Amino acid sequence: MENYDLTVIGSGPGGYVAAIRAAQLGMKTSIVEKYPCLGGTCLNVGCIPSKTLLDSSEHFFNANKHFNSHGITLEKLKMDLSVLMKRKNKIISDSNNGINYLMKKNKIDVFYGLGGFIDSNTIEIKGKETKKINSKNIIIATGSKPMELNNIKNNKHNIITSTEMLNLEEIPQSLNIIGGGVIGIELGVVYARLGTKVSVIEYLDSIIPSMDKDLGNELKKYLSSHLGFEFHLSSKVISAENNNNQKVNIEIENKDKQKIKMSSDLCLLSVGRKPYTEGLNLDIVGIDTDPTGRIKTNDKLQTINNENIYAIGDVIQGQMLAHKAEDEGVFVAETIAGQKPHIDYNLIPNVVYTNPEVASVGKTEEQLKQSDIDYKIGKFPMKASGRARVSNDTEGFVKILASKKDDEILGVHIMSARAADLIAEAVIAMEYKAAAEDIAIISHAHPTFAESIKEAALIATDNRPLHI
Ligand code: FAD
Repeated sequence: MENYDLTVIGSGPGGYVAAIRAAQLGMKTSIVEKYPCLGGTCLNVGCIPSKTLLDSSEHFFNANKHFNSHGITLEKLKMDLSVLMKRKNKIISDSNNGINYLMKKNKIDVFYGLGGFIDSNTIEIKGKETKKINSKNIIIATGSKPMELNNIKNNKHNIITSTEMLNLEEIPQSLNIIGGGVIGIELGVVYARLGTKVSVIEYLDSIIPSMDKDLGNELKKYLSSHLGFEFHLSSKVISAENNNNQKVNIEIENKDKQKIKMSSDLCLLSVGRKPYTEGLNLDIVGIDTDPTGRIKTNDKLQTINNENIYAIGDVIQGQMLAHKAEDEGVFVAETIAGQKPHIDYNLIPNVVYTNPEVASVGKTEEQLKQSDIDYKIGKFPMKASGRARVSNDTEGFVKILASKKDDEILGVHIMSARAADLIAEAVIAMEYKAAAEDIAIISHAHPTFAESIKEAALIATDNRPLHI
């Protein structure tokens, strides 16, 4: 039986990054993956394919709606969905090859098959053949799967989850989305840009509900006015039924207890994701999960009862984000190597890849209110930005929340073109405990979207903006 210092079960962004960092630190490392390719949800059915479709659909939308304002006229514009999907599949397979290369480069042994515990140091891998390996330390990085509702299941035909939605063969005329979180909104935007009539049904009173409410409200306005989205907030879905493979009939109940019937070609079930632990045989090693199925860990991300078995990423508590999983992978590898790494979960940014993009880090206004923290707000509208006017990206704002006591930045919330990249400035500032005035006095190149962060900081610190 082969012996390893570390074996990682699951090759998503948490798992493969943990393996690379462990190998860099001199550990003899292996990784086990049940699918025939590496990269997990993120690369195969998550971040990368969804962003690829968002990118292609944005080009189509701009060519359709915005090019003429630049004097560019296109006739008979057409979207060939099969080419778009082929491009997406090529990006996935190129990236799969990229991870294979990284595994070879770092001398990490890759085993394909379902990994399960035999005991706390032995893993059985059920692949083409069944084999056992021994490992001093083990990281569980088995990720998550789309959630279904008790009475509404994925039929892989017209009631589907994000996984199937990333592989459509035809553009649907109409799409009802159950769940107004990030995944549902992003996939709705892809198809709305291609001409699909999109409706979103959300149980809570705001879309992207985990983010600052201003962002949800502004994004909702944008999606309604520019992409024709229809929203049913504070509404619950009672049933969704496949009508002879033609349409999906949905019944919802709104906050006034009115029942509304809806019908669409497709229904996307995007009500969250659940941790995936099937086949691991957690009971054999006495690993506990919480009521939502997440593996319980301590502050070193060790599982309870087994100090040599760790868990990271979507399968444990916290936001289900690829970079959170990666940070935890590095954290555990360095912990095993005897280092004292650190993760500040408050500083993990969150992004929605619509256009304008939405990005945030730190506390929301609602959280500050709830914790009775005195704060001030600096909010700068993108329509006052010269750079935004140049590219016709005048929707949105930068909002900085800073402590009234000492001006320290507590949260940054952006809706703007390129917000996904802009938020990095806020993360760095907050990591170094910057005050709003620190950003306000730093030179920002002109004309850039980033100047809006400086303007919002000027407002937050002392209400002294230069451009409004
Ligand atoms: P995963 O990526 O889920 O990987 C787990 C791996 O473990 C899988 O390959 C699985 O096959 C394997 N596995 C499971 N059980 C076993 C076993 N017993 N033996 C062997 N292998 C096993 N996050 C972002 O940060 N940014 C985004 O833009 C973003 N977009 C997304 C879009 C969509 C449509 C979806 C669905 C998700 C998106 N996410 C995004 C979330 C992101 O994909 C996840 O947070 C991330 O992939 C979690 O990484 P992980 O390593 O924990 O697990």
